[in-house]
Amino acid sequence: MTDLERRQDRAPVPSGWDYAPAPEARDIVTLEERYGLYIGGELVEPKSGEYFPTVSPASEEVLAEVGQAGPEDVDLAVQAARDAYDNGWSAISPAERAKYLFRIARILQERSREFAVLESLNGGKPIKESRDVDLPLAAAHFFYYAGWADKLEYAFPHRRPRSVGVAGQIIPWNFPLLMLAWKIAPALAGGNTVVLKPAESTPLSALLFADVLRQAELPPGVVNIVTGDGRAGAELVKHPDVDKIAFTGSTEVGKAIQRELAGTGKRLTLELGGKAANIIFDDAALDQAVEGIVNGIYFNQGHVCCAGSRLLVQESIYEPVIEKLKRRLTTLRVGDPLDKNTDVGAINSKQQLEKIEELVRSGEEEGADIYQPPCRLPEKGWWFVPTVFTNVAQSYRIAQEEIFGPVLSVLTFRTPDEAVEKANNTPYGLSAGVWTEKGSRILSMASRLEAGVVWANTYNRFDPTSPFGGYKESGFGREGGLHGLEPYLDLEESEVRG
Ligand code: NDP
Repeated sequence: MTDLERRQDRAPVPSGWDYAPAPEARDIVTLEERYGLYIGGELVEPKSGEYFPTVSPASEEVLAEVGQAGPEDVDLAVQAARDAYDNGWSAISPAERAKYLFRIARILQERSREFAVLESLNGGKPIKESRDVDLPLAAAHFFYYAGWADKLEYAFPHRRPRSVGVAGQIIPWNFPLLMLAWKIAPALAGGNTVVLKPAESTPLSALLFADVLRQAELPPGVVNIVTGDGRAGAELVKHPDVDKIAFTGSTEVGKAIQRELAGTGKRLTLELGGKAANIIFDDAALDQAVEGIVNGIYFNQGHVCCAGSRLLVQESIYEPVIEKLKRRLTTLRVGDPLDKNTDVGAINSKQQLEKIEELVRSGEEEGADIYQPPCRLPEKGWWFVPTVFTNVAQSYRIAQEEIFGPVLSVLTFRTPDEAVEKANNTPYGLSAGVWTEKGSRILSMASRLEAGVVWANTYNRFDPTSPFGGYKESGFGREGGLHGLEPYLDLEESEVRG
């Protein structure tokens, strides 16, 4: 009899690997019952008189009421931004601007646990992601652009970089604080002022950020935050005194914004949807690739514009990859976003859940094979089991449309040419992944893939120094790196070239 068998007789070895709950305490977050709009350095009641509830997608509990900005409110926010621009911010010394950005970055670090809990509470994403990804990256963006604020002439040699004016910024619900940081940090570093509209379903971290601005003693009006639904975003876009619009969200709304701004002379950058190919060659390290596939599509419940939602596997390794992937899926823990062991949290909203369900139904109806691991979902809230579709044709909706949920469509290829052709067979062009042991193949694939970002032997890695953005229907303009400063600067050529 082996040792193990003897031990099983006396004290049974655990039969499963269930984790005990490890919830993060939520008392670090203090919620107000009601929030106004952040205009001119103060939280003010909306002139519209309207408020709407914001909920936790994991429990459907109402967390607070938030103001709905109407046309008059948006106008006041733009006026506050214009006054702050004209009366100080645009003329302040660049080193002084940098000081504020450094302060904001440090305060975000100091209050990171509070922000991480709030982000998971309001957005449904696992605490380990908000704690280890969203918060460190948000602070890193402010640090990075703080560094450039007084070095713009070195960043753009032979140019005379000058600020643009008032920036209107509209952000989505998948990375609320991180998208705020991507937008606000370069705008302020370039000497602009801001009116930001967070997504309707996730306004709370932007409102907490208003408190960071107060702590950092940022002059009133330099950043204004108008909460509300798409109507508030539309008002901001068409406001005549806004000089630049930066939008992240759906391709449909991005196109509407572009139409609205055509001929106005306003600057525009659009970061829209994606349907990225994650390409696995037969010489790739398979276990690492499977981790990359999982990170590519199940990270943040698949609510990621650059998610690796189309898996392209070389035919010769199709079976082992799918077997390993299915086995790995059985170990993903879906549930309470505030539990530190959770891998996949709640779907951000009921509407988003319905959209995912509709596309998954279409996949089954069109003839793809569905796999979902055994999984017990919480009774309240909005949830979706991590899903893999095999036997997918390129024409299926699940291979063409952005699902924006934890749903992977698997296709196969035989040659690199076929992989490139299939990967590029999409109206989008935001990102792609390549898994192979050959550096030459990585370089050759990267130069042929129509994608703004190509990851090699990794996926969903972000860094403030690295520009991010798309081609085709994924939008235009870049965020991050020096490229991310350009939309916020007038880059006139200087007369003297040295
Ligand atoms: P939207 O594009 O509608 O939302 C993005 C932001 O734009 C939100 O702040 C939204 O406000 C605002 N907005 C909505 N309508 C207008 C308008 N007419 N003018 C100006 N601003 C507007 O995305 P959804 O939240 O509706 O998501 C729909 C789909 O879009 C998702 O299923 C996903 O496929 C894709 N998406 C892509 C994202 C990306 O990062 N590329 C991010 C989010 C979604 P409000 O939240 O109040 O509607």
